[in-house]
Amino acid sequence: MREGVKEMGMIELDGALGEGGGQILRTSLTLAMITGQPFRIRRIRANRSKPGLMRQHLVAVQAAAQVCGADVSGASLGSQELEFIPGTLRGGDYRFAIGSAGSCTLVLQTVLPALLYAEVPSTLRVCGGTHNPMAPPVQFLQRAWCPRMAEMGAQIDLQLERFGFYPAGGGEVVATVQPCARLAPHEWMTRGERRQGYAESFTAGIPARVAQRELECVGQGMNWSEDQLFARRLPDEQGPGNALMLTLEYEHVTEVFTTFGEKSVTAENVARQAVGQARRYIASGAAVAEYLGDQLMLPLALAGGGGFTVDQASLHARTNAEVIELFLPVRFHFTHRDGLDCCVVEPR
Ligand code: ATP
Repeated sequence: MREGVKEMGMIELDGALGEGGGQILRTSLTLAMITGQPFRIRRIRANRSKPGLMRQHLVAVQAAAQVCGADVSGASLGSQELEFIPGTLRGGDYRFAIGSAGSCTLVLQTVLPALLYAEVPSTLRVCGGTHNPMAPPVQFLQRAWCPRMAEMGAQIDLQLERFGFYPAGGGEVVATVQPCARLAPHEWMTRGERRQGYAESFTAGIPARVAQRELECVGQGMNWSEDQLFARRLPDEQGPGNALMLTLEYEHVTEVFTTFGEKSVTAENVARQAVGQARRYIASGAAVAEYLGDQLMLPLALAGGGGFTVDQASLHARTNAEVIELFLPVRFHFTHRDGLDCCVVEPR
């Protein structure tokens, strides 16, 4: 990838662009590692209530810097400016500790695509949150994202060693990634026939009846029978925490919808939110839902082409497209056809 990219000067980014969140930084880190292009970002996460680098973002910066021997300035908690000058990508064994419930999966998604371009396989062990609101749970990556990456030629395997719920964290994930010199373009325009649907309620250190109430409500809302509903009790010391996960497997894609138990929210409301997300996706007829769409954009751009129909082309997605276009010679197109949002990427 590096040879194909013309040597360019420092890429300047405004962290307030579009959605103004952490994705601008994570996408820039990944693409700087892969293309060798340095970048400077100002006003990091400007539109968030606590702007600047939070622990999870800082660990993503440190992980990226370690993996490609980067020169970095501004890498400290709360920093709103960062300069990142990448060096040479190195595969191998890495361990990153977030030290809070910051998301392990967002740190992994920052460095995994880059390690596809290393010369040797890599193993990454990341400690922190594995099941956080506003981040993909580990099973989402295992069931929804990794198989789509495999269709593009990337072999990424994830093992969940220990759950870590917000706010305590303390979870652990191990990822292995094989080098893949070239990702293949791919299109997901239809989801195909439904093969399976099931719900799981994970509970740790909270009463088991919470899971029963959530699953009963999902059974009614999705019209699912008992053999599609699973209460998964985890060791108390991995809690306290509760995640409700609905998995829908289709011929061409798998989707995972997750909601989290909270003190002030009833089990029935946690279930209703998850059912609402799953039903909205089912009714849309799109191949993928918003979050999986977000996470396929960067790999497709690296492949140089492809696309998907999506239930909602969000501001997050459009912002991500703008950032990717600064680093790679591609152009994203968002269209609306036959009642469906469609995202396509082409070489520029
Ligand atoms: P921050 O500024 O706090 O870092 P952000 O803009 O980076 O926020 P979000 O827009 O909230 O973060 O999303 C982060 C990523 O997590 C996106 O790629 C989104 O697709 C993914 N994501 C969020 N929630 C879920 C979920 N429940 N399941 C799967 N993926 C999710």
